[in-house]
Amino acid sequence: MLRGLTKEESLKWLDSWGQAIENDAVYGFGLSKMLYFRAPIFKIYDASFSLKGVFDNNPALWGQKIMGFNILSPEAIKNLPLDSKLVVLTSDYNNVREQLQAFGLKEKENFIKVSVFWSLWTYYKHAQRLTMWSMGLHITDRCSLACDYCAALIPKLTLKEGDRPLELLQEDMDLLFSMVNFVSVLYISGGEALMHKELPQFLDYLHDRHFHKCAAVCINTNGTMIPGKGILDRCAAYGVEIRISDYSEAGIPGYGRTFERLKKNLDDYGIVVSIADAPWYDFYLSDESRAALRESGPKGLMRHFAACPVQAAIFSDGFFYSCDKSYFIRKAGLIKNDMSIDALDFRALKPENQDDRLLTLMSILNYYASPALQACRFCAGCQGTSLYPPARAPRARQPRKA
Ligand code: SF4
Ligand code: SF4
Repeated sequence: MLRGLTKEESLKWLDSWGQAIENDAVYGFGLSKMLYFRAPIFKIYDASFSLKGVFDNNPALWGQKIMGFNILSPEAIKNLPLDSKLVVLTSDYNNVREQLQAFGLKEKENFIKVSVFWSLWTYYKHAQRLTMWSMGLHITDRCSLACDYCAALIPKLTLKEGDRPLELLQEDMDLLFSMVNFVSVLYISGGEALMHKELPQFLDYLHDRHFHKCAAVCINTNGTMIPGKGILDRCAAYGVEIRISDYSEAGIPGYGRTFERLKKNLDDYGIVVSIADAPWYDFYLSDESRAALRESGPKGLMRHFAACPVQAAIFSDGFFYSCDKSYFIRKAGLIKNDMSIDALDFRALKPENQDDRLLTLMSILNYYASPALQACRFCAGCQGTSLYPPARAPRARQPRKA
């Protein structure tokens, strides 16, 4: 969210939102399912979450009090002072952005997404508590597929680690949660996460020590594997969700049958399943695209970063990356030095140190030492920029033997 701002601009921005939050001077926009679904996470520290009012496009709701929020007509936005702050609560952020801009409000300055607001709210309202909307964990390089445009660059890795050792995964989780107080959704991913040989033991460890710091824990799979009983039992017992990326259109032999069997197995165990329908952020490393980005210079790089909609943090080997592409690009050997711009070393931080907590908040919100990540110059396919072509659908090769 602080993408493309200098450090001074970022601090000024944080201060303006911090003051509005401390003074309970923030409005909401959109009384949606999202609010019903997400509102409980605002109550993790206490029940004090409140907004000055919630604007909604549905006239039938105006004047009512719902879930403790006064519902207002968007027309009233015209009368708000110029420095007003709003949090967009619906998942339909792009349309609401246009509507708010038509009222003369500015993104970042006047309104932000709920995912960003949540981290700010817990920090400023609750003694610098650090919270994240989502966090990824990469547990294995192994995969049953080899997609041409793999966002994790798995087919391009020259040095494969295979499964990340259980002890390292445990250390990472301990370190992450020594600093971060709460994560809304923790995503366990690969490669193909279900291939990790010690996944059941890792789920036990997470459950015993850290599940209470997550609203949900979710395993990502490509739909080609039927997990063993050890994994299924734990997912059912601990309430771990499974998110399947649907590759039915990729022409993988036998995929449809396995996909249906997987869904049935998960249903039989009562495991919550979701089918990933998020847009595919194309990630390819064509020489032409990189050359175009280089030619655009630092300003072009900043535009690329500032317009990039990807928000996918990842934690690995003690480092927090606000963009997981940074982590995978390093793994593929394309960036070799100076981690400090793209990643924050949690081993160097002290949880009780206020400056370290502020630095972590800025990292969560996507600000680092420069207004663009080093990885952005290798990441040529993000949607939302005018420089690069629209994202393409993923393709998959023949499944490999595990
Ligand atoms: S399924 Fe495809 S995109 Fe996903 S990790 Fe494996 S190779 Fe990459
Ligand atoms: S590396 Fe790519 S995905 Fe990550 S912030 Fe930069 S442009 Fe966006």
